[in-house]
Amino acid sequence: MSNPAPIEWTRCILHADMDAFYAAVEQREDPSLQGKPVLVGGRPEGRGVVAACSYEARRFGIHSAMPMRTAVSRCPNAVIVHPRFDLYRRVSGEVMEIFTGATHLVQPLSLDEAYLDVSEAATDQDPKEIAVSIKAQVRQQLSLAVSVGVATSKSVAKIASDYDKPDGLVVVPPGTERDFLAPMPVRRLPGIGPKAEERLTERSVNTIGDLAKSDPSILHALFGKRGPELRLLAQGRDTRPVEVERVAKSVSAENTFSTDLNDPEALTDELRLLCQRVASRLQRSDLSGRTVTLKLRLADFTTLTRSSTSIVPIGEYDDLTTGALELLRHEIQPGRSFRLLGVGVSNFPEARQLPLL
Ligand SMILES: [Mg+2]
Repeated sequence: MSNPAPIEWTRCILHADMDAFYAAVEQREDPSLQGKPVLVGGRPEGRGVVAACSYEARRFGIHSAMPMRTAVSRCPNAVIVHPRFDLYRRVSGEVMEIFTGATHLVQPLSLDEAYLDVSEAATDQDPKEIAVSIKAQVRQQLSLAVSVGVATSKSVAKIASDYDKPDGLVVVPPGTERDFLAPMPVRRLPGIGPKAEERLTERSVNTIGDLAKSDPSILHALFGKRGPELRLLAQGRDTRPVEVERVAKSVSAENTFSTDLNDPEALTDELRLLCQRVASRLQRSDLSGRTVTLKLRLADFTTLTRSSTSIVPIGEYDDLTTGALELLRHEIQPGRSFRLLGVGVSNFPEARQLPLL
């Protein structure tokens, strides 16, 4: 009896997504949180939302982006942890380093997920083994769990990583994409939001399989040019490459306050903190930009943006803070209070926007 011929992967993409990342990092840092419902986010008495929650909390129907108040009413025993983004960013760097060990073609999508193009390694190694090895390294070196989807394209890999969370590993071999996707609700397809879902289900297109064989003219009527593209995605056909160099157009940070602020000193302190975050990110990416933008949301939800452009690119904390404070100074007026403050730097020199070859 001969072994079956090995599957030929002409293209092999991994989507790796850390499980409940911020919450898992907090549980790792403080073992007393392990096994408990943990909510990372703002305080419930403010307008905070859940930035991340542990799987123990998800059992109560809690999910990220839910108002903290709602989450706490669903699970009064949950432990609320204030987010520590510097810590998450540091751990994220360690995660990405492990990914980069498998391939140099890594496209981070956020702090905790990335696409990896392992096509080259997959010519002489089983992609499942590549994924197993990445998961083991994340587990052993960082005491964290990552779910991995393995497929011939980005969109299928992404759906696969989500398919068996947490700690999942789902391989969709070449040629089986369509069957894998067919029974799933259309909503699982990246790019299909609640509105698109509604329009499709109105026409009895409920599953990705329905979408894959639906009438192209109907899809064109519903989604314009995107229609045919969605149909291809539903068929498991997605040729988008893993893009290593994502070109940032701006670097920014903002904060929504739990109570509206009108005190100039408090606002100045908040702005300095935001400038610190932006400056450290600019420095890490070796970027500087000529335009500083201040974003302000007033108590009545009016949003203002104010910007200034200088001749010299700004990349350091002091210059950024000087520019941002100058913009803020003009906006502080008696009787005006602010619910959100943000600062950003954009207008990077052309050369920095070209991908490095
Ligand atoms: Mg994640």
